[in-house]
Amino acid sequence: MHEKLNLNIEADKPQDNCAVVGIFTKTGDVSKLLIDGLIELNHRGQEGSGIVVSNGEEFVEKKNPGLVETVFYVRDENGELIENFPRLQGSFTGIGHNRYSTSGTLNELQPFLEGGIAIAHNGNLTNVQELKVEFDLPDEINGARSDTRVSLAVVNRMEGTEEEKILAALKKFEGAYSFVFSTKDTLYASRDPHGFRPLILGKLDGGGYVVASETSALREMKAKFDREILPGETIKINEDGVTTIGIDERNTEISRCIFELIYLSRPDSIVFGIPVMEFRRRVGEALVKHLPEKVDVIAPVPDSGRGAWSGVISAEVARKSDALFEEVFYPNKYRNIMTGNLRTFISPNGRVKAATEKYSVIESNVRGKDIVLIDDSILRGSMKRIVGILKAHGARSVHALIAAPPIEHACGYGVDFGTDELVAGKSDNRPNNVVDIEKVKVELGLDSLYYISYAELLEAVLGNPVENVPEVFEQNKFCGACFTGRYPVPIDGTVSKIA
Ligand code: SF4
Repeated sequence: MHEKLNLNIEADKPQDNCAVVGIFTKTGDVSKLLIDGLIELNHRGQEGSGIVVSNGEEFVEKKNPGLVETVFYVRDENGELIENFPRLQGSFTGIGHNRYSTSGTLNELQPFLEGGIAIAHNGNLTNVQELKVEFDLPDEINGARSDTRVSLAVVNRMEGTEEEKILAALKKFEGAYSFVFSTKDTLYASRDPHGFRPLILGKLDGGGYVVASETSALREMKAKFDREILPGETIKINEDGVTTIGIDERNTEISRCIFELIYLSRPDSIVFGIPVMEFRRRVGEALVKHLPEKVDVIAPVPDSGRGAWSGVISAEVARKSDALFEEVFYPNKYRNIMTGNLRTFISPNGRVKAATEKYSVIESNVRGKDIVLIDDSILRGSMKRIVGILKAHGARSVHALIAAPPIEHACGYGVDFGTDELVAGKSDNRPNNVVDIEKVKVELGLDSLYYISYAELLEAVLGNPVENVPEVFEQNKFCGACFTGRYPVPIDGTVSKIA
């Protein structure tokens, strides 16, 4: 029996502030390739999408709200997909962007273009207020207030050639950034010295280069992975190929976002040199040790719990467990097709509705059963609703194994959650400033709750045992500030959530 589940599972997850892609090719269809890459990066931002391309003489651009396909394609009367994007005769360079944000207006859609320079950004600058003061910038620039719009204004306040302006401005920026810039004839890409967000370089099969947030963009762009752009590195791509033109000399520690591996990146991507699915499977294998004694059904929380779930399955199959590995929710893929809202939402208000109508409970897997849910992380209140619904459908007990430690603190580096929203960050659940898992368990209505430890998480990253946690996060060049509260770059307490 299937019953509609009024639940917004996916919107209650960490959301990344965006995807970037850039291209330089004398032999390819620049607009089409950018869009192909953006479609493969749509999981990083669904609010809107845009491209800017150039042929060395002029730019054309298009950006609109919606999923990438809905921005750049329409259907004709026969239902065939028709291209609906600008091409520029002789174009050879361009950049693209997918945006996610909980705030801001459609004026925030990227790329931004001004003064012969286009910019797209994944991350979050931590010194926007200082930049506004230093450069006497208004709160709103051409209707936009985001850190990216401020970044472009700062670039254009610098002296010299376009390249000199970009390099000079980068020295002013603090926090998390993976930028792509395009001038009329050159592509630039830069990653902050901490390396918070991923950024990779690929070689196009037909000649030329791409830059993208994740390797998942490469296959459809007909490109092969070349290398990561290094933390602090700025590259330039033109007819002469790829040149490193800047290495940030600020003496900073690398702190790559561990959440890229836990949730944000696509399972078929390789991020920070680590195959994402392999990492998630190893996390699942670690979680198996914490299964309760009596289990009938082990189920993923869709969709994000599936990576760790597969690790649990392989370990449990190996030890010949009697548990069933079953789904307890049925996702109706065919709902919301008309609006294009297959995954989440277009506007912050609209997103709840789009996701609430997707899931049904598979009651035969639930009634009378002891259920273990596998999920990647717990942010706000979805788990409580899931547990309530499963119990209302007759579950005997509901337990949870979570593939991330408790998220107690806000992220200041481009992932969308603030402290006030976090179940494990609420002061009631943190007596003496330490999270009380028992309290969280009771609040969520669970019969048992296990969060993976820092040590287990790092073992999954490194593939071998570790000691001295949580310091190992820093030693191994990962950021875990949302778990530990130790921020590698100071944030001002008013974490910006405008991408
Ligand atoms: Fe990633 Fe958490 Fe660090 Fe933000 S605070 S960059 S989500 S690990």
